[in-house]
Amino acid sequence: MVIWSPFMQSFKKKYPWVQLAGHAGNFQPGEEGCILKRYVEREANCLKGMGADLTLQNFAPSFHGIVENNGEKFTQMEDLLLPFDAPSLMDCKMGIRTYLEDELIKAKVKPQLRNDMYLKMTEISPDEPTAEERELKAVTKPRYMQWREQVSSTSNLGFRIEGIKKGDKDPSKDYKLTKTKEQVVCAFKYFINNNVTVLEKYIERLMDMRVALEGSDFFHRHEVIGSSLLFVHDATGLAKVWMIDFGKTSRLPEGQTLDHRTEWVEGNREDGYLFGMDKMINIMQEI
Ligand code: ATP
Ligand code: MG
Ligand code: MG
Repeated sequence: MVIWSPFMQSFKKKYPWVQLAGHAGNFQPGEEGCILKRYVEREANCLKGMGADLTLQNFAPSFHGIVENNGEKFTQMEDLLLPFDAPSLMDCKMGIRTYLEDELIKAKVKPQLRNDMYLKMTEISPDEPTAEERELKAVTKPRYMQWREQVSSTSNLGFRIEGIKKGDKDPSKDYKLTKTKEQVVCAFKYFINNNVTVLEKYIERLMDMRVALEGSDFFHRHEVIGSSLLFVHDATGLAKVWMIDFGKTSRLPEGQTLDHRTEWVEGNREDGYLFGMDKMINIMQEI
């Protein structure tokens, strides 16, 4: 389900706030120019850390503290949509792995069988479940996540499109099977509406971000899983990209670092974040 507009945002101007991905009910309006996202310790720590990192602070929503609303905790952050008029948005989930190594270990030690994920899987690929899974009518979470990685561009390109919303049109999350480079190019072209200026701004911003990430101690000390790049542009030609969604971003044990490009093998915690960024920039440059 796409949550078109869970609320009207009002600060300086009034606009329907758009939530492209994620769970319904996770977001609320916050203080001036801010939104509230249901609190996750990892995410709040990461936003705080990125805010303190001079090279990274421009590339993520600014952190505005932890607040309580009706007994529930929220992370308050910059609303990235504020400067835009009727924006077009795209959410791309980064990396070659979309689940934590912990989730894999847990699933081996004590597998939790998920009927909901089995149903989602068979809806798209009826022949995918094994005989055993068919019998159980369930799959484990890592099995479901790995299958999603395989049918989308996560496994071959190191990122996948989660959703696109163009201007006033309804958003779409119909990209689960967008896998090949050609399919991704097609979706990118649709998103930018063949506007070369917008494309050039996106490429430039991605290249700046890559330089910042490569030089950031903070980034090399974190495993970044399930995080997205949020692309936003509008008819005035304003176009920007930010890193969002750090609920599964965790600090590595002292002394350990990642290069974010090396292939993942269980235990090395590599996430393929920069591998995916390289591919994404190359694809955009070829358009
Ligand atoms: P999931 O983990 O399932 O992807 P989530 O609940 O962690 O979802 P996010 O991925 O952080 O949520 O955000 C969901 C959507 O909300 C994004 O795709 C984007 O449309 C919007 N969004 C998130 N953060 C911001 C922000 N700071 N400013 C504007 N829009 C945002
Ligand atoms: Mg997300
Ligand atoms: Mg998340």
